[in-house]
Amino acid sequence: MSEKKTAAEALLYAPENGCARISAEEAARCAAYCEDYKRFLDDGKTERECAAEAVRLAEQAGFRAYVRGEALQPGDKIYRINRGKSVFLAVIGSEGLAHGVQIGGAHIDAPRLDLKPSPLYEDSELAYLKTHYYGGIRKYQWVAVPLELHGVVALKSGEVVEVCIGRDAGDPRLVIEDLLPHLGAEQSKKPLGEAIPAESLNILVGSRPLSDVEKDAVKVNVLSILHEKYGITEEDFISAELCAVPAYQATDIGLDRSMIGAYGQDDRVCAYAALRAILDIDRPKKTAVCLLVDKEEIGSMGVSGMQSAAFDTFIADLCASCGGVDREICYERSFCLSADVTAAYDPNFSEAYEKRNSARLNYGVGLCKYTGARGKSGASDASAEVVARARRMLDDAGALWQMAELGKVDYGGGGTIAQYMANRNIDTLDAGVPVLAMHAPFETVSKLDCYMTYKAMRALYEEQ
Ligand code: MN
Ligand code: MN
Repeated sequence: MSEKKTAAEALLYAPENGCARISAEEAARCAAYCEDYKRFLDDGKTERECAAEAVRLAEQAGFRAYVRGEALQPGDKIYRINRGKSVFLAVIGSEGLAHGVQIGGAHIDAPRLDLKPSPLYEDSELAYLKTHYYGGIRKYQWVAVPLELHGVVALKSGEVVEVCIGRDAGDPRLVIEDLLPHLGAEQSKKPLGEAIPAESLNILVGSRPLSDVEKDAVKVNVLSILHEKYGITEEDFISAELCAVPAYQATDIGLDRSMIGAYGQDDRVCAYAALRAILDIDRPKKTAVCLLVDKEEIGSMGVSGMQSAAFDTFIADLCASCGGVDREICYERSFCLSADVTAAYDPNFSEAYEKRNSARLNYGVGLCKYTGARGKSGASDASAEVVARARRMLDDAGALWQMAELGKVDYGGGGTIAQYMANRNIDTLDAGVPVLAMHAPFETVSKLDCYMTYKAMRALYEEQ
């Protein structure tokens, strides 16, 4: 080896594709992990379904519902579910909570089309549901794709009826129609963002009139079907949360099966990594905390979002259960990986990315020092020391990682729950899976990156 090459090796930072860097045993563990992850995706297409599935998996792994005021011991595994939409899990460490906790936080809500409070109408003998989109979507992507309807209807009596149409084999599905190209000349002249207005995202749900009904017979027929199946009437839509989501199952992508395509991988890919990691650890030194939260896609607002005091209350309760530690002292010494996806470099749209600082498929979990838009607006911007700690932690655990920025400066931007954790005086760094076509009805990730994100979350919970 020449002296020059040695100097280059010693001095240059040269990230490598992870596929060549992992052993056959590790590749087999990665493949098995991804099969479990695909099942998790198919079982949870809303935050409520993900929360329920997380609790089911946690109980299977020996976690139990936390009771406020109970005394907790090292090794105890507990969870609290917040209003059916977010979940906090913890494994009590051998050190006290005064030493801080290790937090893995991800979100389980995803962009979708919510039904409006008064959604059902008939036009030209066709029945439709009006929608209001949730999160950042490109509206043109949601037409002419099969949809399912998931959610709940809360009745005046207090009973909550679960609705799920389209998931099971043999179920009917729903769709929003697009204009045929033969008549699309005028529509095609419009900018992409204007071609499909929000108020045209109306879901087709029926075309057959109920006999002997004079007015709106197609709509009445749809209502009679819903009444028969769920016992609901039109007024009950007012207190419902019904979400139209793509009717896609998670599937391998590529002839080499190296990738996964599915709906809602932002951020269930990181949520599953954070969850699975805490289920797989036993007796950490520091208390491990996993957060699966709602409402990230609309700003982390509300009682089930990361800005909610529900998390502060949970940690205060844990502190009380572990010998009466001050919550603020616990926060000050805690460390959080905000586990959320980042954009993967897409050579089809190279103009939107700055290649030297973009995450790439198969290079491992993407660490983002900052998110935000323009001059880092809205970013918590982790300190150099926090990034160094993450480098050390991940390298020691053999979790492959890369640095990531969302795309070119001034091309757009985004945010995560990181700022809301950092605002609590918790050192926080964004870390997550790079995604192709993020927020599309069908998103793509690399299996290796999924598995490395799991390893990163385990490294966090088991940091010494
Ligand atoms: Mn996200
Ligand atoms: Mn998102």
